[in-house]
Amino acid sequence: MTPQHTTRSTTSAAAPDRAVRATVHGYPRQGRNRELKKAVEGYWKGRVDADALRETAATLRRTHWQQLAEAGIGEVPTGDFSYYDHVLDTSVMVGAVPPRHRAAFAADALDGYFAMARGTQDVAPLEMTKWFDTNYHYLVPELGPDTEFTADSARQVAELGEALALGLNARPVLVGPVTYLLLAKPAPGVPADFQPITLLDRLLPVYAEVLADLRAAGAEWVQLDEPALVQDRTPAELGAAARTYRELGALAERPKLLVASYFDRLGEALAVLAKAPVDGLALDFTDRAAGNLADLAAVGGLPGKRLVAGVVNGRNVWINDHEASLATLGTLLGLAGSVDVSSSCSLLHVPLDVTAERDVDPQVRRWLAFARQKTAEITVLARGLAQGTDSIAAELAANRADLASRAHSPITHDPAVRARTAAVTDADGRRSQPYARRAVAQRAHLGLPLLPTTTIGSFPQTAELRTARADLRAGRLDEAGYERRIEAEIREVIAFQEKTGLDVLVHGEPERNDMVQYFAEQLTGYLATQHGWVQSYGTRYVRPPVLAGDISRPDPMTVRWTTYAQARTAKPVKGMLTGPVTMLAWSFVRDDQPLGDTARQVALALRDEVNDLEAAGTSVIQVDEPALRETLPLRAADHADYLAWATESFRLTTGGVRPDTQIHTHMCYAEFGDIVAAIEDLDADVISLEAARSHMRVADELAGAGYPREVGPGVWDIHSPRVPCADEAATLLRKALGAVPAERLWVNPDCGLKTRGWTETKASLEHLVEAAHRMRARLTTG
Ligand code: GLN
Ligand code: ZN
Repeated sequence: MTPQHTTRSTTSAAAPDRAVRATVHGYPRQGRNRELKKAVEGYWKGRVDADALRETAATLRRTHWQQLAEAGIGEVPTGDFSYYDHVLDTSVMVGAVPPRHRAAFAADALDGYFAMARGTQDVAPLEMTKWFDTNYHYLVPELGPDTEFTADSARQVAELGEALALGLNARPVLVGPVTYLLLAKPAPGVPADFQPITLLDRLLPVYAEVLADLRAAGAEWVQLDEPALVQDRTPAELGAAARTYRELGALAERPKLLVASYFDRLGEALAVLAKAPVDGLALDFTDRAAGNLADLAAVGGLPGKRLVAGVVNGRNVWINDHEASLATLGTLLGLAGSVDVSSSCSLLHVPLDVTAERDVDPQVRRWLAFARQKTAEITVLARGLAQGTDSIAAELAANRADLASRAHSPITHDPAVRARTAAVTDADGRRSQPYARRAVAQRAHLGLPLLPTTTIGSFPQTAELRTARADLRAGRLDEAGYERRIEAEIREVIAFQEKTGLDVLVHGEPERNDMVQYFAEQLTGYLATQHGWVQSYGTRYVRPPVLAGDISRPDPMTVRWTTYAQARTAKPVKGMLTGPVTMLAWSFVRDDQPLGDTARQVALALRDEVNDLEAAGTSVIQVDEPALRETLPLRAADHADYLAWATESFRLTTGGVRPDTQIHTHMCYAEFGDIVAAIEDLDADVISLEAARSHMRVADELAGAGYPREVGPGVWDIHSPRVPCADEAATLLRKALGAVPAERLWVNPDCGLKTRGWTETKASLEHLVEAAHRMRARLTTG
């Protein structure tokens, strides 16, 4: 007998046999050794032919299904695989190929597909943006009033056939029509106020056709993913969802329909879907979707329908709490016709297999579950739900022991860190003088000219630098040799900036592999993985570090390189750190304490670094927060809580410096009109922003909101290899001057230069400085 939790309803120890399916919404695509990346990139380079690429893909799919089946997943997903992106696949499925790509697509569907994804010499790709609040990027459908949809179910039908041929019980997964339209944007040339959702009537017959094809091909169930319904939706959008599932539900020739949502609670959309004539819902029951359980009870549950319960977190890396899940599942049994067990979302967002991590402390590894481990957890829970908890007694005991080892570990409970975070006061997050007085002190201290020029931090990460790092890792280069390489690079970067006439210099970040990983590797409590690849977009995979324990900084992290650079110039060198919010956003975060607590620990570690930089003579320190906007919660009701801890952690990082030390921050995205107040709350002295791409719209937004501080809206779009001429930079500068007075305007590029080459970097920065000098001369003479 397993002990029963007294405050929760649980499944009984020996329940009557229930039919419970174990399933997932999707699986990592890349393969153990990122075979998919290699094959696709090989195809682009002409080293792998189309047949070989298809063969690799088919083998990966087969391997993944077999892995799932062996782990006990009774119903496997199909159609979740993709050469590049599943939203792009959906555009192909509904015939939404933009006119500029049609010829290439007609000539060769695979090449046309990749042209839509990446563009060619002559045609631009589809725009790419983040999939909700994850770090996965999808290709944005381009639609307009003239878009005509046509059904192409071939890929979905073929992949279902592959799984059925293996004797598996398979469920095709599609992006649902409402989400597809809500994620789309007006095609180029279409008025910006065009709303793709108005195309719903044209799109639904195409989905009906695909569903009929899948039914004919043997699908009993088809899953339609509607994560867009977990965001705040207008009554009209909720009406569109209601109409969609009324119509699809009423089709004569159709498979059973499972409508899935994840990443947050469904809120008002839950009642809409619960009432719709569909056969089941898949809901997220993890903490981030808290509310779904009570809401489901409030709408009277799903009598007679299938509920797929996403109790195992599909987007974080921690082992599941089985007893908590069984309690949830037990409650759900009373609320639906049948209950199945699943991940909360596709496992696309987690690495494949933790057993590959041989360097991770075994003590910590037992707390981690990647995709393969999660499928085993789901199977255990399904068995427990079907046959009673006695049938999984051993697994429950092991799970309890693993959770206890985490809860009581000195790694997750460092008394020194705990004492320090507990002692934080409001005053720690407050500079000793208000901005207006600091600005005066900084002007006197730094003596900068009008329209000071600077860069965002990184200079080109050359192949030589990457090779040096690889050599260091492989033991071909010793530490001293590597450091000499970095020093040489810093000397070159400083000399170039001196010669070009920039005013606030940077050391160029040559020692950083990645702006988060570099710090994660030096902080205690942070963990780097060796094989923990997660798809970011297309063939780009990242290895997010893991915030595993309490965070502390044993030694300074950047002081050595910053002071090395400062010793080589009389101009101020800007210290450069990644801020706490971005550290969290691009890592796997702890799930055993509030995000705000983790942020505060990271902030205190970074605060030590900021203070050490100042003590070492650094007068300008930039704390980058490019992710501040992207981790904004999906629902507006949750924004205030998030922004409170996010801005507090930034202020805690920077609050300990003298008034005459200038704190910069940097953000790079075009839409941040909705967080201007939060940006002001950071209490930074100077902010640099991506603006060239959006033609200075951000400068207007900031000015419109009355932002009173110094601003550097980018005048060089560094995401393109184009070199802007001085006139072009001057035009953008003039535009910026329309919004920000000259005394508060900085001149800089949109973002860091690590992805640019030296040739374009040199030319572009020379032009940028020339534009600033011209404008400066004009402003001071007349
Ligand atoms: N300082 C960083 C760099 O220049 C900022 C990068 C970013 O904004 N993503 O590379
Ligand atoms: Zn940036």
